[in-house]
Amino acid sequence: MEKKVIEKLKIPQDVFLPLLFSIKFGGDWSLKVESTNVMAIKEKITRFDEDKMVGYTLENVFLFLNPLILNQEGIIYRLEKCGNKKEREIVKRPYKTTIDAEYAIKASLNPMTKKITLKKVEGPFKFTGSNAYGVSHEMEHLLEDEISGEPFFEFEYEIEE
Ligand SMILES: [Zn+2]
Repeated sequence: MEKKVIEKLKIPQDVFLPLLFSIKFGGDWSLKVESTNVMAIKEKITRFDEDKMVGYTLENVFLFLNPLILNQEGIIYRLEKCGNKKEREIVKRPYKTTIDAEYAIKASLNPMTKKITLKKVEGPFKFTGSNAYGVSHEMEHLLEDEISGEPFFEFEYEIEE
Protein backbone atom coordinates (compact mmCIF):
# COMPACT_ATOMS: atom_id res chain seq x y z
CA MET A 1 0.00 0.00 0.00
CA GLU A 2 2.79 2.41 0.94
CA LYS A 3 4.69 1.55 -2.26
CA LYS A 4 1.78 2.70 -4.43
CA VAL A 5 1.57 5.98 -2.56
CA ILE A 6 5.33 6.56 -2.89
CA GLU A 7 5.15 5.87 -6.65
CA LYS A 8 2.26 8.30 -7.07
CA LEU A 9 4.08 11.02 -5.15
CA LYS A 10 7.17 10.47 -7.35
CA ILE A 11 9.62 10.63 -4.45
CA PRO A 12 12.47 8.20 -3.68
CA GLN A 13 11.43 5.47 -1.23
CA ASP A 14 14.09 6.38 1.39
CA VAL A 15 12.78 9.92 1.49
CA PHE A 16 9.44 8.57 2.70
CA LEU A 17 11.05 6.82 5.72
CA PRO A 18 10.86 9.63 8.32
CA LEU A 19 7.14 9.95 7.57
CA LEU A 20 6.67 6.19 8.01
CA PHE A 21 8.65 6.24 11.29
CA SER A 22 6.57 9.12 12.58
CA ILE A 23 3.36 7.28 11.71
CA LYS A 24 4.50 3.90 13.06
CA PHE A 25 6.63 4.84 16.09
CA GLY A 26 5.49 8.39 16.84
CA GLY A 27 7.52 11.56 17.35
CA ASP A 28 9.66 13.58 14.96
CA TRP A 29 12.34 12.11 12.69
CA SER A 30 15.11 13.28 10.40
CA LEU A 31 17.35 11.55 7.92
CA LYS A 32 19.97 12.33 5.31
CA VAL A 33 19.34 10.59 1.99
CA GLU A 34 22.41 11.31 -0.12
CA SER A 35 22.26 15.08 -0.70
CA THR A 36 18.68 15.44 0.55
CA ASN A 37 17.79 16.35 4.12
CA VAL A 38 14.45 14.87 5.14
CA MET A 39 12.47 15.74 8.26
CA ALA A 40 9.10 14.60 9.62
CA ILE A 41 7.31 16.73 12.22
CA LYS A 42 4.19 15.54 14.01
CA GLU A 43 1.39 17.81 15.12
CA LYS A 44 -1.48 16.46 17.24
CA ILE A 45 -4.97 17.89 17.44
CA THR A 46 -7.69 16.36 19.62
CA ARG A 47 -11.25 16.79 18.43
CA PHE A 48 -13.89 16.07 21.03
CA ASP A 49 -17.66 16.05 20.61
CA GLU A 50 -19.05 17.34 23.94
CA ASP A 51 -22.56 15.99 23.19
CA LYS A 52 -21.56 12.49 22.14
CA MET A 53 -18.57 12.50 24.56
CA VAL A 54 -16.37 10.90 21.90
CA GLY A 55 -13.38 12.23 20.06
CA TYR A 56 -10.09 11.41 18.42
CA THR A 57 -6.55 12.74 18.19
CA LEU A 58 -5.76 13.70 14.63
CA GLU A 59 -2.07 13.45 13.76
CA ASN A 60 -0.68 15.67 11.03
CA VAL A 61 2.77 14.57 9.95
CA PHE A 62 4.62 17.06 7.79
CA LEU A 63 7.37 15.63 5.60
CA PHE A 64 9.90 18.23 4.49
CA LEU A 65 12.58 17.79 1.82
CA ASN A 66 15.61 20.04 2.32
CA PRO A 67 14.00 22.15 5.07
CA LEU A 68 15.35 25.61 5.77
CA ILE A 69 14.83 27.79 8.86
CA LEU A 70 13.53 31.23 7.83
CA ASN A 71 12.90 32.71 11.24
CA GLN A 72 13.07 31.88 14.96
CA GLU A 73 11.58 33.83 17.86
CA GLY A 74 12.02 33.57 21.62
CA ILE A 75 14.15 31.25 23.75
CA ILE A 76 12.75 28.33 25.75
CA TYR A 77 14.97 26.44 28.21
CA ARG A 78 13.88 22.82 28.36
CA LEU A 79 14.86 19.22 28.97
CA GLU A 80 15.05 16.95 25.98
CA LYS A 81 15.82 13.30 25.52
CA CYS A 82 17.43 12.43 22.25
CA GLY A 83 17.10 8.89 20.92
CA ASN A 84 20.89 8.67 20.53
CA LYS A 85 21.57 9.48 24.20
CA LYS A 86 20.86 7.83 27.54
CA GLU A 87 19.88 10.87 29.59
CA ARG A 88 17.99 14.08 29.15
CA GLU A 89 19.84 17.33 28.60
CA ILE A 90 19.08 21.02 29.02
CA VAL A 91 18.70 22.71 25.66
CA LYS A 92 17.52 26.07 24.34
CA ARG A 93 14.83 26.08 21.68
CA PRO A 94 12.91 28.84 19.88
CA TYR A 95 9.28 29.35 20.93
CA LYS A 96 8.22 30.11 17.36
CA THR A 97 9.80 29.05 14.11
CA THR A 98 9.09 29.53 10.41
CA ILE A 99 10.54 27.12 7.90
CA ASP A 100 10.30 26.37 4.22
CA ALA A 101 11.22 23.32 2.15
CA GLU A 102 11.83 22.33 -1.45
CA TYR A 103 8.95 19.89 -1.22
CA ALA A 104 6.44 19.20 1.55
CA ILE A 105 3.68 16.69 2.17
CA LYS A 106 1.12 16.71 4.94
CA ALA A 107 -0.11 13.28 6.05
CA SER A 108 -3.24 13.37 8.20
CA LEU A 109 -3.83 10.26 10.25
CA ASN A 110 -7.25 9.72 11.75
CA PRO A 111 -7.31 6.82 14.26
CA MET A 112 -11.13 6.78 14.25
CA THR A 113 -11.60 6.33 10.49
CA LYS A 114 -8.21 4.53 10.13
CA LYS A 115 -7.41 6.75 7.15
CA ILE A 116 -4.21 8.53 6.20
CA THR A 117 -4.70 11.32 3.70
CA LEU A 118 -1.68 12.77 1.91
CA LYS A 119 -1.50 16.23 0.42
CA LYS A 120 1.29 18.25 -1.18
CA VAL A 121 1.56 21.53 0.70
CA GLU A 122 3.33 24.85 0.09
CA GLY A 123 5.33 26.85 2.62
CA PRO A 124 6.23 28.85 4.56
CA PHE A 125 5.28 26.78 7.60
CA LYS A 126 4.86 28.25 11.07
CA PHE A 127 5.25 26.19 14.24
CA THR A 128 4.80 27.21 17.88
CA GLY A 129 5.68 25.46 21.15
CA SER A 130 6.36 21.72 21.07
CA ASN A 131 6.41 21.57 17.25
CA ALA A 132 8.89 24.47 17.11
CA TYR A 133 11.10 22.56 19.60
CA GLY A 134 10.79 19.46 17.41
CA VAL A 135 11.76 21.36 14.27
CA SER A 136 14.77 22.87 16.05
CA HIS A 137 15.86 19.45 17.42
CA GLU A 138 15.62 17.71 14.03
CA MET A 139 17.28 20.61 12.20
CA GLU A 140 20.18 20.33 14.67
CA HIS A 141 20.53 16.65 13.72
CA LEU A 142 20.51 17.49 10.01
CA LEU A 143 22.98 20.38 10.28
CA GLU A 144 25.24 19.32 13.16
CA ASP A 145 24.57 15.58 13.65
CA GLU A 146 24.60 15.68 17.48
CA ILE A 147 22.39 17.59 19.90
CA SER A 148 24.51 19.85 22.10
CA GLY A 149 22.97 20.22 25.55
CA GLU A 150 24.01 20.57 29.18
CA PRO A 151 23.86 17.49 31.42
CA PHE A 152 20.91 17.16 33.80
CA PHE A 153 23.20 16.68 36.86
CA GLU A 154 24.01 20.35 37.01
CA PHE A 155 20.65 21.06 38.67
CA GLU A 156 20.56 22.49 42.19
CA TYR A 157 17.97 21.13 44.62
CA GLU A 158 16.22 23.61 46.87
CA ILE A 159 13.68 22.97 49.64
CA GLU A 160 10.95 25.59 49.89
CA GLU A 161 9.87 26.43 53.45
ZN1 LIG B 1 17.44 13.56 18.57
